Amino acid sequence: MMRDIGGGPRVLLRRLRELMAEPLEPQERLDRIVREIASNMVAEVCSLYVLRADSVLELYATEGLNPSAVHRAQLQIGQGLVGTIAASARALNLTDAQKHPAFAYLPETGEEIYNSFLGVPVLRAGRTLGVLTVQNRTKRNYREDELEALETTAMVIAEMIATGDLARLSRPGLDLDLSRPMSFTGLAFNEGIGLGHVVLHEPRIVVTNLFNEDSEEEVRRLESALGSLRLSIDDMLSRRDVASEGEHRAVLEAYRMFAHDQGWVRRIEEAVRNGLTAEAAVEKVQSDMRARMMHMTDPYMRERMSDFDDLANRLLRQLMGRGPEAIAESLPKDAIIVARSMGAAELLDYPRERLRGLVLEDGAITSHIVIVARAMAIPVAGQVTGAVSMSENGDAIIVDGDAGRVHLRPQADVEGAYAEKVRFRAKRQELYRELRGRPSVTRDGVAVDLMMNAGLAVDLPQLAESGAAGIGLYRTELQFMVAATFPRAEQQEELYRHVLDVARDKPVTFRTIDIGGDKVLPYFKSAKPEENPALGWRAIRLTLDRPALLRTQIRALLKAAGGRELRVMFPMVTEIGEIRQARELIDREVRHLSRFAHHLPTSLKLGAMLEVPSLMWQLDELMQAVDFVSVGSNDLFQFVMAADRGNTLLSDRFDPLSVPFLRVLRQIADAGKRAGTPVTLCGELAGRTISAMALIGLGYRSISMSPAAIGPVKAMLCELPAGELAAMLDALLGKPDGGTDMRGLLDEFARKHDIPL
Ligand code: PEP
Ligand code: MG
Repeated sequence: MMRDIGGGPRVLLRRLRELMAEPLEPQERLDRIVREIASNMVAEVCSLYVLRADSVLELYATEGLNPSAVHRAQLQIGQGLVGTIAASARALNLTDAQKHPAFAYLPETGEEIYNSFLGVPVLRAGRTLGVLTVQNRTKRNYREDELEALETTAMVIAEMIATGDLARLSRPGLDLDLSRPMSFTGLAFNEGIGLGHVVLHEPRIVVTNLFNEDSEEEVRRLESALGSLRLSIDDMLSRRDVASEGEHRAVLEAYRMFAHDQGWVRRIEEAVRNGLTAEAAVEKVQSDMRARMMHMTDPYMRERMSDFDDLANRLLRQLMGRGPEAIAESLPKDAIIVARSMGAAELLDYPRERLRGLVLEDGAITSHIVIVARAMAIPVAGQVTGAVSMSENGDAIIVDGDAGRVHLRPQADVEGAYAEKVRFRAKRQELYRELRGRPSVTRDGVAVDLMMNAGLAVDLPQLAESGAAGIGLYRTELQFMVAATFPRAEQQEELYRHVLDVARDKPVTFRTIDIGGDKVLPYFKSAKPEENPALGWRAIRLTLDRPALLRTQIRALLKAAGGRELRVMFPMVTEIGEIRQARELIDREVRHLSRFAHHLPTSLKLGAMLEVPSLMWQLDELMQAVDFVSVGSNDLFQFVMAADRGNTLLSDRFDPLSVPFLRVLRQIADAGKRAGTPVTLCGELAGRTISAMALIGLGYRSISMSPAAIGPVKAMLCELPAGELAAMLDALLGKPDGGTDMRGLLDEFARKHDIPL
């Protein structure tokens, strides 16, 4: 199959290997490479164009064209044959190039006399960095193996570009495309701004050994690695936690199918037979494939592409004898993790003090990784398409978690603006830290407990840091949501004990698992698909129907709180009967444990969350039935307004600071006062300064929020004349509502009294 004239692909690759090993200046090396290719392929011309940051392809080296055109001749992306190759990331093989509609003649090169043309994109991780071409005067047909050889050479050049070898050849102000600043718009998953350097979660494995010594031996090595890869996938599939149906299984099954995909395997083998090492062949096939797929819009195909990417990475690891990448010791101090997607547990493997942000190509606000990142107070941008393939480890990067934007290799002015924002925030944080030691009392002497919400062990350091008075809402379902299977009783108990240990004498209110609705456990599905999951089988409804689940949790809580106070509340209570039922179950557990002489809590306080409007007409009974009530304003608002809390089309449509909802909140606070039952509020409303101010005006004396909100809310509180605000709200809410702009009036009140909002 291989011809002898010119030496064929294997000889070319050997020559390239020698050239790469020689101590040459970059320009000299390029010149020798193009000369070698031309001679090997019996072509009169071989040229290399490199893509600059301004989208211009500049001639970097040539054998055969006018040498004075080097670094002078240039084409836009999409212009001429070379520009077409760069734009499409596909090779062009033409017997009569001048007949091609895109043909454009650059007079400085003197290329008008050439007829046949073969050009390939210079690709790295699917990204086009340049174009490599050969030309002949005769109308010649370039063979498939010649195309392969040229593509392989292009890979070598891609490495030279990526390692910065060619950067020295560019003229001042004309950077290479690889260092071009890029901005991406995704979704804001967690607020905050992070400046730092890219750490690819799955670092691209850098293949340094490109050329094989013995193709047959190399094919055998490839086959053995493929064999192990297939076995490891089978092994994962047979593990208990993926044995049943589910997303995870579906992904692995797709992997298994691809690992046996004849086309994929054949293309890799072909590249090996042409002289590449198995690793280089895997990378080449992957890069070609990704470049082609990049132009596809079909989401199914794109998804499959990322499966192939993962698979190729696994295969590379097999070949290089490496396990999953250990977290590098050399992690920068300001790491911003860039990943297609990742598991929550993997994020926890990174040292927190070095993390400045997280960029995900996939993900949703409800994904586990995002929940955990939020608990760790890391800024997150999600759905950032292209972030992984466009970044290199060590690139400067900014994550704007407020706007969901990412700036890769930012220009100095962008970086300056963000650095200023970060400094400003840090200064404010400093101010909040100073407030931490001050009593939480309004200007007119009303004490208000500022509590924090939590749900994972990583949240706990915030308790001391934020100066919160306790944990007002501990969302126990988060432990269930980040696990692969139901956490065992001992694991639950261990976590609860840890929470209480960290909290010491500060109160903690545990909420029993609140799953269903938008909080799904992949390993636990509702028996029937639900049309309206928010109104469905969830929270206390579900746990009362699955008493074993609730009993296990209650027992774990009782044991963990032995010798101290235990506060437990139930989510989504709809009728008083549910509280009675839950209390019976708890009583039974208490009796059970005392029979076995367990150390019991010193006191047990039971509460209900007020999230379902039906309780509004059972308020007095409710206050009698429990030791405390906690308003879940997120759900309560969604149900009062009939507006899905996750629907962005509705997110600004109705205002919780409107007369109807403020009246609802006031009625609850009043009922609590009448009965002497403490009422608190633990939805997002408590964490926004203006609404926190309103809550205090309505009579709330304990509110629970995300730890980051404690500082700003306290700064507001210290300046608030609570009595005056209460009088104003009383008057306004007592009047017939003609669409009063309550938010505007509250804003004005704050301004008048110099209250920082
Ligand atoms: C709420 O609904 O306000 C609440 C605190 O619970 P969650 O947000 O967990 O549903
Ligand atoms: Mg809720």
